[in-house]
Amino acid sequence: MPQKTKNTPMMEQYFAIKEQYQDAFLFYRLGDFYELFYDDAIQVSQLLELTLTSRNKSADDPIPMCGVPHHAVAGYIDTLVDQGFKVAICEQMEDPKKAVGMVKREVVQLVTPGTRMEGKSLSAKENNYLSALGQSSQGFGFAYVDLSTGELKACLLADEQGIINEIGALQTKELVLTTPLPDDIQKNLKARFNLVFSKQEETIDSSEQNYLLQHIKNPTEKNVLARLLSYLEKTQKRSLSHLQMAEGYEPDHFLKLDYFSKYNLELAQSIRTGHKKGTLLWLLDETKTAMGGRLLKQWLDRPLIQATEISARQEIVEKLLASFFERKELAEALKNVYDLERLAGRVAYGNVNGRDLLQLKNSLQQIPQIIQLINGIDAGEFAPLLNLMDPLPDLVNYIDRAISEEASILITEGRVIKDGFNGQLDEYRDAMKHGKQWIAQTEADERVATGIKNLKVGFNRVFGYYIEITKANLGTLPPERYTRKQTLANAERFITPELKVVEEKILSAEEKSVALEYDLFIEVRENVKKNIGPLQQLAHAVAQLDCLLSFAEIAEEYDYVKPIMTVGGKNLKLIDGRHPVVEKVLGHQQYVPNSLTMTPETEILLITGPNMSGKSTYMRQVALTVIMAQMGSFVPAKSAELPIFDQIFTRIGASDDLIAGQSTFMVEMMEANLALQHATDQSLILFDELGRGTATYDGMALAQGIIEYVHEKIRAKTLFSTHYHELTVLENSLAHLKNVHVGAVEQDGEVVFLHKILPGPADKSYGIHVAKIAGLPEDLLERAASILTHLENQETTLTEKNEKSSEKVAETSDQLSLFSIQTPEEQTVVEELKKVNLLEMTPMDALNKLYEWQKRI
Ligand code: ADP
Repeated sequence: MPQKTKNTPMMEQYFAIKEQYQDAFLFYRLGDFYELFYDDAIQVSQLLELTLTSRNKSADDPIPMCGVPHHAVAGYIDTLVDQGFKVAICEQMEDPKKAVGMVKREVVQLVTPGTRMEGKSLSAKENNYLSALGQSSQGFGFAYVDLSTGELKACLLADEQGIINEIGALQTKELVLTTPLPDDIQKNLKARFNLVFSKQEETIDSSEQNYLLQHIKNPTEKNVLARLLSYLEKTQKRSLSHLQMAEGYEPDHFLKLDYFSKYNLELAQSIRTGHKKGTLLWLLDETKTAMGGRLLKQWLDRPLIQATEISARQEIVEKLLASFFERKELAEALKNVYDLERLAGRVAYGNVNGRDLLQLKNSLQQIPQIIQLINGIDAGEFAPLLNLMDPLPDLVNYIDRAISEEASILITEGRVIKDGFNGQLDEYRDAMKHGKQWIAQTEADERVATGIKNLKVGFNRVFGYYIEITKANLGTLPPERYTRKQTLANAERFITPELKVVEEKILSAEEKSVALEYDLFIEVRENVKKNIGPLQQLAHAVAQLDCLLSFAEIAEEYDYVKPIMTVGGKNLKLIDGRHPVVEKVLGHQQYVPNSLTMTPETEILLITGPNMSGKSTYMRQVALTVIMAQMGSFVPAKSAELPIFDQIFTRIGASDDLIAGQSTFMVEMMEANLALQHATDQSLILFDELGRGTATYDGMALAQGIIEYVHEKIRAKTLFSTHYHELTVLENSLAHLKNVHVGAVEQDGEVVFLHKILPGPADKSYGIHVAKIAGLPEDLLERAASILTHLENQETTLTEKNEKSSEKVAETSDQLSLFSIQTPEEQTVVEELKKVNLLEMTPMDALNKLYEWQKRI
């Protein structure tokens, strides 16, 4: 902290305020600018490319300073917050002209990544969650809020993995720590997610909080929520009345997918680009409203596990699918519904304008038609949605009476309130109108009276209304008719007492009407605010309808089928299933559909086949189909029968976790371990090429160990792809394991992938063929082919032994060594070495033999 000794009173005030906002940039209002000082100024000038100047330039220790004009501040704040910084906005709390002594200043808001309400980077179809985490003897309390929509929820989490799953799913940008967090967890979270940490370790009691938390019974949840709300109160300093009543939730009440699996399956974020394109969400999202878009993402994060809830969604989708015309009209109506949820939030937050209220009205006007269309489909399935859909006709009328169709986005300049809404305002407007008419009339009358045709009545801010006569006409003006006020180069301006009287009327009416309009607008806003509860309910119903409509649209577009879901079922049967995203990208014609049958007899499918043949695609298609089904969507298949899964685990692809400081193999084992620890016989496990990250025999041994463990102890439905052909013999010893492979044929030395899943193991892996396609040098490929032939001879021996004894691959692994890649001469030497009878040799013979061998190789 810089020296405070010879500071001016203003800098004293600055320090006192800055002291309380150490982790934020302090934007300190000075007249028309927000200024930053010291380190804040140095950093922000670099971040925003502003000129760094200084205050007290001539002093020994000038103060670094930079500033931005007040009218442009929003853009600058956005940029900083986007980059993960916090900004404290400090305003002048009184008119500097009227202030006695120092102008009073206060921080009116702390803008942080998690408390953004608007801004460039806030996508309409994404929530912006602020999360909070605190530890107790019960584990971890976790809570989150979206300030723009009012959603407020909390749950208990057992361990770090749970925390990672929630933060990953919510894509939260800021985490408020409500108790100290163990260092290693905090470090890990920071490395994994681009998180900003904040602290709120005490609770500020308020009646609003008690109201919002009345349904929360668990003390850990209550505590973390109360501190999250306290953080909001402390930083936002305004009404939080739009927040919805806090709800507890159980992550276990949904299909559980850990963070790794969501990442690997590319549900909402492409691994390669980090964007939505190419993900399941991208495919599913045909929503028409921002609320629908956000809800769909939530559904994707939390697929259902209750059969009744799944079928409730399915049935609506089915009805919508069958009602083509209503569906198209509903889609059109939804396009005209703005973001009711965020509009409601802005009403409560006090940053709503006239244009927003018109949008609200227009959106509400769509609702009766939506209800009518749903009634036209006439199905009881919609009843729960219809119950939430109140078109709020009184509110529509009220806004219609109050807000002018031409309302601008400014609420301080008038022209927001409609004529006829308020008697006093109408009087002011009349006065203005009549005054202006009187002036126009005066101009006409005076032209006649003076005979000066170009006489005109004008207005400027300094002199008010005046009569202007050009110099050329001054001679004809009767003297004393007007009082001279201003002389210009080629004209004179005059006033009359009557003109000034009318002017006073017009100006005061204008001023009063603007002030009154502002007050009226605030009153309207407060009245609209009373409807926030029903508005949020309506928004939720519209969002659900939008998601289900989207499901129906894609079901039709891509020819999906309604899956049959069986509670506690053991059969997983997909006829002609497809990977929805790959199919969308490749085109329906290009995609080779594949079936899958898993029953109590077949719980593990061991998938072999060449690289690039489609093993991974096949496995992913199963997982995506399950997720879609449990979201309530139709699925990409000709027919589908699915059990309701409790969890999905994956170890797929090359997701290395280097950011979090883990080696690829370590990640592989951690992901495998998650599955082994938590999977049940109602879970789905996908292991893609498990064991690839270590030495061959190490990997193969682990792979086999894991398969056996799943087979004996877990009995989860498991798809295991591997390029270890040795593992295919397990079909002989493991009753519930079946081999399948992806077909490929060799034509003129070239491999052709059929992308077709066929029974039995693959005959070879075609790795060299793939290398050939990739264009590796010819002589290298030849050398590789000869090494392969040699290795395959040895493998045959291994396989025979394995089959004979039914022993584990791992146990025989020591019979082969990594030195097995030998020249024919080396091989002969090894053979001779094996046969030599040492007992019949003298030490000299042995030495000679060794010398000979060494020379030969
Ligand atoms: P593997 O896991 O066997 O190495 P992938 O599953 O990654 O192979 O598939 C490689 C490529 O093959 C995919 O990117 C896709 O373009 C194509 N492919 C996979 N399955 C199919 C299919 N059923 N129909 C058409 N193309 C497919």
